[in-house]
Amino acid sequence: MSEKTDKKEELEKPKENSQDIRNNLKELENTRKALTNMLEDFEVARKIAEEEKMKTESVIEKFSDGIMILESDKTISFLNIQAETFFNISSKAVFGKKIEELLKIDVFAKLGEILKETAGEIFRKELTIDDNFILEVSTISISRGEGKEGVLIILHDITREKMVERMKTEFVSVAAHQLRTPLSAIKWTLKMLLEGDLGELSKEQKEFLDKTYVSNERMINLVNDLLNVTRIEEGRYLYKTEAVDFVKEVVYVLDFYKDIIKKKGVKISFTKPKELLPKMFLDIEKIRLSIQNLLDNAIKYTSKENEIQVSIKKKDNEVIFEITDNGIGIPKDQEKRIFSKFFRGENAVKQETEGSGLGLFIAKNIIEAHKGKIWFKIEKDRTSFFFSLPLPEKE
Ligand code: ADP
Repeated sequence: MSEKTDKKEELEKPKENSQDIRNNLKELENTRKALTNMLEDFEVARKIAEEEKMKTESVIEKFSDGIMILESDKTISFLNIQAETFFNISSKAVFGKKIEELLKIDVFAKLGEILKETAGEIFRKELTIDDNFILEVSTISISRGEGKEGVLIILHDITREKMVERMKTEFVSVAAHQLRTPLSAIKWTLKMLLEGDLGELSKEQKEFLDKTYVSNERMINLVNDLLNVTRIEEGRYLYKTEAVDFVKEVVYVLDFYKDIIKKKGVKISFTKPKELLPKMFLDIEKIRLSIQNLLDNAIKYTSKENEIQVSIKKKDNEVIFEITDNGIGIPKDQEKRIFSKFFRGENAVKQETEGSGLGLFIAKNIIEAHKGKIWFKIEKDRTSFFFSLPLPEKE
């Protein structure tokens, strides 16, 4: 390279550098502006997030339901104002404390019982603080990342609903009690008339009185069903258990229904268990009522000339009662409601206008109070109702 060219380059270089510097400065200025904009945007976003957080916190804090968070290490990390009011305790007094310590406080002990009873998510469990204060507890598992697992506990005040429910139950109970006496009086008068105690009756008079007697019996049954339901709801459906031969009791109910079965024209078969069952501790009146309700339905909802099959089987440490008919069955979309109070299937209402929809509800409560289970199965045109009862443990 010649000396001349080198010099030329040297002279041109400073020129290029000043242009570069200007460009760089411009770029820097642009970057600064962009960064400032970003910072401003970030600040706006942070403010919005902060506001949202405050809004959410204030909603949760002032929510009409009580809200608590129980951490996986069994400490309480959050308690909103309503939960503080419900439990009459300040959040400061519970934060960070282990549940074992809190269980010494009466309300937490009751809550702890519910949480222990149902390991897993709870849906609408009642927590009775006292007679005039009842909460409904629901829980949801929450995960907040970094292995932070907890349980969100929601407490809803249902005292008012419970009071209204109680008043309704009391009203039905009083009305049913009041109805029972005159209905019994009518029953006995009709009986005397029908048996000719008050003079001879013409054929027509007897026919009318027969129908009146049947209607009166229906009323008595309905009133008895209503009384049973109110007792169940008031928690005073007392169970007086005694040692009984379950098979004998089933035979007793079947015998009682002999005439009705004959009148309807259906046949009935009964299969006893292969082995001898030990005596079981049951409230016999109530168990008879459950069998009666299931048998009554099988007779009511089966068609003539069909056979109703009743069987008792022993399975492990349980006895299983089964009753099958091949009548109208249960519509698929109504299966879930079958044991609810006052429920009657659409097809059942069409076929049999009489019915209260209380029989299965009562039977379910009786069986469950005996620590048993009740269920049904539909197979083609066969409707089977089952219940199981635990056998006494061997000594
Ligand atoms: P009720 O018989 O007075 O209507 P239940 O509580 O005994 O009341 O039964 C509730 C409903 O369950 C009935 O209305 C009927 O729809 C249905 N059900 C019960 N048993 C049977 C059965 N064996 N076959 C068909 N449907 C039944």
